[in-house]
Amino acid sequence: MKLPAALPTLLALAATVDRALAFAPTATTTNMHHRRRRPPSSSSSSSMMPPTPSSSSSTTTTTTALTAVTRKDSYSITLLPGDGIGPEIMSATVGVLSALTSRCGFELEFAEALIGGAAIDAVGDPFPDASLERCLSSDSVLLSCIGGYKWDSNPRELRPESGLLKMRKSMGLFANLRPAKVLDQLVDASTLRREVVEGVDVMVVRELTGDVYFGTPKGIDVVDGELWSSFLAFGRDDGVGGGSGVGIFVFGSQSYSSSGRKRVGYNNMIYREDEIERIARVAGDVASKRSGRLCSVDKANVLDVSQLWRDVVTEVISSEFADVELSHMYVDNAAMQLIRYPKQFDTIVTGNIFGDILSDEASMLVGSLGMLPSASIGDGIGPGVFEPCHGSAPDIAGTDKANPLALILSAAMMLRYDLDRDEEATILERSVEAVLDMKLRTADIKQEGDGCKLVGCIEMGKAVAEVVSTINSIVEV
Ligand code: NAD
Repeated sequence: MKLPAALPTLLALAATVDRALAFAPTATTTNMHHRRRRPPSSSSSSSMMPPTPSSSSSTTTTTTALTAVTRKDSYSITLLPGDGIGPEIMSATVGVLSALTSRCGFELEFAEALIGGAAIDAVGDPFPDASLERCLSSDSVLLSCIGGYKWDSNPRELRPESGLLKMRKSMGLFANLRPAKVLDQLVDASTLRREVVEGVDVMVVRELTGDVYFGTPKGIDVVDGELWSSFLAFGRDDGVGGGSGVGIFVFGSQSYSSSGRKRVGYNNMIYREDEIERIARVAGDVASKRSGRLCSVDKANVLDVSQLWRDVVTEVISSEFADVELSHMYVDNAAMQLIRYPKQFDTIVTGNIFGDILSDEASMLVGSLGMLPSASIGDGIGPGVFEPCHGSAPDIAGTDKANPLALILSAAMMLRYDLDRDEEATILERSVEAVLDMKLRTADIKQEGDGCKLVGCIEMGKAVAEVVSTINSIVEV
């Protein structure tokens, strides 16, 4: 899917808008209405700055998962406050969205649903069917975060994280877009040197519903001494016992008795071709609307599943995205390069587990998890889920120390990708930047001697809401 013909021009115009210029409070561009979600552009991926058009025009057409609801006057939004700092940052974000809707003349109808530890405590299920139904029947979903010490020793199916995985799987959310853009205002918040991180603007496109997190067989079995020898021979392919690498499957759920018992844990790293194709298309679209540079990360030198990943990504990009320059990198090297010279990356596409790790690493380029939004999208039939990259921060829950900006920026991504409200999304993003320009900082982004004022979650939320209401006077702010 490609942008409507007029959109690159609009994006180019937006890109030239100076920070000091005001936005029209109720701006609408009817020629941008459409049913299909626009692929993330540079601005949307960064969630901070105006869009930048693709450097080259695409000559290909393709179908991706990027589909949105038609723009309308009223939207139903499911809120999943979750655990830990979740309710605090959700409250701040709802305040900001209320300021936005009052100002911009459209409605967001909010309804809360349970997920994570809160859902386990209430109904004994980390993502109950009632929550799934509510999410599926809404236009979009805003999620805070889940988890906490309280549920850490629960059986796996009763852990908050299982609710998250169930939600992603049952809502078909196979693509996670995680922008990591270093803002000028926060360049010193990174633990890396200024010259390394200044200007970094990376988008990690992570596959979300496959890979070793969902592959079967999986489990922890107990095997006796004789079978342990078999495991060494057939369960691994590291030369021990000259194994074939497939024998582990025989253990399944069988139980063994007798002496010399040992435990064996295993998961299956597996991708189907069609799963790789669809994430490659999302990544191709993302990259083509940014700089056109796409780096696919895998471990093809060791893993067969990665070799298939590499082959399929190459096939999709070369046949469907003439304007995208594709490169490949092994995940260990990518982890190193992200720290050594992050500016070499624009868009990264990778599988679930590698993406989990690399996107957290990329977040540290920015300086705080508290600044990083994300979008999880699927086939477009159901809504997307928009959530910060961080967890529930149980260490600061209930102390008004949480940074709500990642959730506010996630709400901006929701406006852009699910609700067809691009300009309102930009108002939110600009308001966040304006508040940083006002030198307000939550503890996670405060530097010693930076001359900024330390504020809590509530004050930060109120400050953003105020700026949203008065953004025409952004010059004076
Ligand atoms: P975390 O992201 O919750 O916290 C890591 C560190 O960052 C902590 O010091 C925390 O105080 C800080 N932090 C995170 N978000 C912040 C914010 N908005 N403002 C200020 N500081 C912030 O990661 P963790 O400690 O590894 O995990 C805590 C719980 O969260 C665990 O139960 C974990 O499973 C869960 N978790 C949930 C998600 C999710 O909901 N998507 C993601 C990661 C972890």
